[in-house]
Amino acid sequence: MRFMLRHRHDASECAVAYAAWRGFESPLRRESTLATCAVPAGPDGPEHLLMWTVEAPSVEEALAQLPPWLAARAEARPVAEVLIP
Ligand SMILES: [Zn+2]
Repeated sequence: MRFMLRHRHDASECAVAYAAWRGFESPLRRESTLATCAVPAGPDGPEHLLMWTVEAPSVEEALAQLPPWLAARAEARPVAEVLIP
């Protein structure tokens, strides 16, 4: 199954969110993804959002691709491709 992982953290926790990957094995490491971390704070406030689309057999295994600190602050939703008319 394919899942969309969405992790949120406060701007003040940004360094923690990246340091949490050190020593953690995951297929997501050293790959690019979309995030608001590098975007100046806008109308949505200081909250940062990181997103990944991953393949995994279950929600638990999808979240296990994130370090525990990120997984505890993330949601995994099953997704599938659609064709926009
Ligand atoms: Zn951030």
